[in-house]
Amino acid sequence: MKDMYIKGSDSVCGVIGNPIAHTLSPLIHNALAKSLGQRAVYVPFCVTKENLKEAVFGAHALGIKGLNVTMPHKQEMFKYVVEVASEAQKVGAINTLVYTETGYIGHNTDAKGLALSLKEQHVVWNGKKVAIIGSGGAAYAAYTAVADEALEIYIINRTKEKAETLKAHMAQYFDTPTFVYEDCEDLVLDVDIVIQTTGLGMGSLKNQMPKCSKCLLKSAQVAVDLIYEPWETLFLKVAKEQECKCINGFGMLYYQAVIAFELMHHISCEQEKVLQIKHELLKNKEK
Ligand code: NAP
Repeated sequence: MKDMYIKGSDSVCGVIGNPIAHTLSPLIHNALAKSLGQRAVYVPFCVTKENLKEAVFGAHALGIKGLNVTMPHKQEMFKYVVEVASEAQKVGAINTLVYTETGYIGHNTDAKGLALSLKEQHVVWNGKKVAIIGSGGAAYAAYTAVADEALEIYIINRTKEKAETLKAHMAQYFDTPTFVYEDCEDLVLDVDIVIQTTGLGMGSLKNQMPKCSKCLLKSAQVAVDLIYEPWETLFLKVAKEQECKCINGFGMLYYQAVIAFELMHHISCEQEKVLQIKHELLKNKEK
């Protein structure tokens, strides 16, 4: 019972997006706060595009210590922060706001979250050829996650122009050789790791996967899908048949939240506890 009371000295954090009902962020942040003994509560806020500016300035006036930012506000948020962290600049999106007296600092924790989830699964991309399917916000995070160490990056997208835009954006920060292709069934590329970042495989697109999947997965040893609902997408089913090591998007979601939690509360989480909380969340999910 004691845990249910919110004290006047507790920090308040949250997530803003629209829609917001599906978000798992409150579950993760509140579990982290409880297990790590951090006096904090984390709540979801449904905010429309029209209300975004008022919401951010209002949250600051209320002293909200940290906010996660999700669809569709990750790009628009650049207008409402007093400072942008370099990682957010590279990814071209803000997914975390951290309170300062003069306003919020905009961060992005998606790329580091993905990198941590791959490292946890012992994936090494140093000197490897990495294919990224998609060119939306998640692809920018995936590129940033692997670009420092990858040998070459191949961007494949339905709309080739968007892949070209991603390549040009990243050329400002990285000199990794990068090649761009339109998504098609007979795309033969010799790659080690494939990261699927499109929405194909979830919701109404549940039984779909990018056209290039089968062909690309023939050479790959590792297949990553940023989707975690469903747990195993069609892309990962095919990857499993091709004997690839398969990783879904839950690890990325979890670790981007852990990094955001550390930034919002100015703490460093104990690794053992972080792993323990992840296992508990997964155990509860299976029930
Ligand atoms: P986005 O910015 O809207 O980009 C969507 C991408 O999917 C684009 O490359 C788009 O291609 C492609 N696409 C969409 N519908 C398609 C179709 N019918 N056929 C072929 N390609 C299609 O979305 P996002 O923010 O990058 O998110 C993409 C996915 O990543 C979502 O499923 C999201 O849940 C997941 N995600 C996961 C995490 C995590 O923590 N695990 C974090 C962020 C995102 P075009 O350029 O041709 O339109």
